[in-house]
Amino acid sequence: MKGSPIDRSPASDEFRINERCIDCGTCWTFDPDHFAAGSGTAVVAHQPIGASSQRQALLALQACPVAAIETSRTLQRTTPAEGFPSWICSHAAGEVFYCGWASQRSFGARSWLIQRADGNVMVDVPRWSAPLARRIQAMGGLAQIVLTHRDDVADHQRWAQAFACERWIHRGDADAAPSAEQVLEGQEPLELAPQIELLPTPGHTPGSLCLLLGDQRRVLFSGDHVWWNRDQDVLVCSERYCWWDFNVQIRSLQRLQRLDVAWLLPGHGHRQHFQPGLWTEAVKQTLTWIQAQH
Ligand code: SF4
Repeated sequence: MKGSPIDRSPASDEFRINERCIDCGTCWTFDPDHFAAGSGTAVVAHQPIGASSQRQALLALQACPVAAIETSRTLQRTTPAEGFPSWICSHAAGEVFYCGWASQRSFGARSWLIQRADGNVMVDVPRWSAPLARRIQAMGGLAQIVLTHRDDVADHQRWAQAFACERWIHRGDADAAPSAEQVLEGQEPLELAPQIELLPTPGHTPGSLCLLLGDQRRVLFSGDHVWWNRDQDVLVCSERYCWWDFNVQIRSLQRLQRLDVAWLLPGHGHRQHFQPGLWTEAVKQTLTWIQAQH
């Protein structure tokens, strides 16, 4: 059942989208069973039925950066206190979670948590949330925050202060987080910690970078450099959403082609799992398509 983008019907526990929606994609990438993209705003694609479906939709409501998802107060009170971070995948180098609590200041971009024995890493930053901070504390706190680019820094200062951790950003975008403790210079990869590498991928912005977890079957945190389009089953490197230099962005994508990527976890768009070899094929396909357009 397709819902209206602005539905003020008072139906008790039904979910609805109000006029505050900024079309950030947080809800339908996190909970595609119930939310979908509409024409410039999210829509409720299917009302959740049953406790576990409602739980997922309530977490999407909590993650929404602008309180654009509504349901009854009674149902909202049942939102799980420990829903986020939400587990995404396991790698020998760490467990990976989605942080939820998206920030309007980052246009709803996703933030990720890597849980590791020798220090957790947050990739981009959600809006400040005391319940989320308590959960992360219980999971071992934060050793480092990596900011993939200037758009997705949200409440970085608050998170860094709360956990007394260092923040990393590339020189090209450093003015977006001038208080960051560490600035990555140049275009060479940097080993941040064992099995964690920062790879400069300029283009979307001058200081865009990706984080790679693991040496094999790697998890690629791509910021806004590339993402997955689930409808078309294709890797997207977008000229429309390139804020700096698309030719440079293409060269950055070429750098990623030979990697052994198992998971793509972007700031926007869908995440995707790749069987061995399929990441390289996906990059190749996208580069070929871009070349044909220019
Ligand atoms: S998360 Fe909120 S703002 Fe973002 S698309 Fe969904 S309803 Fe709209």
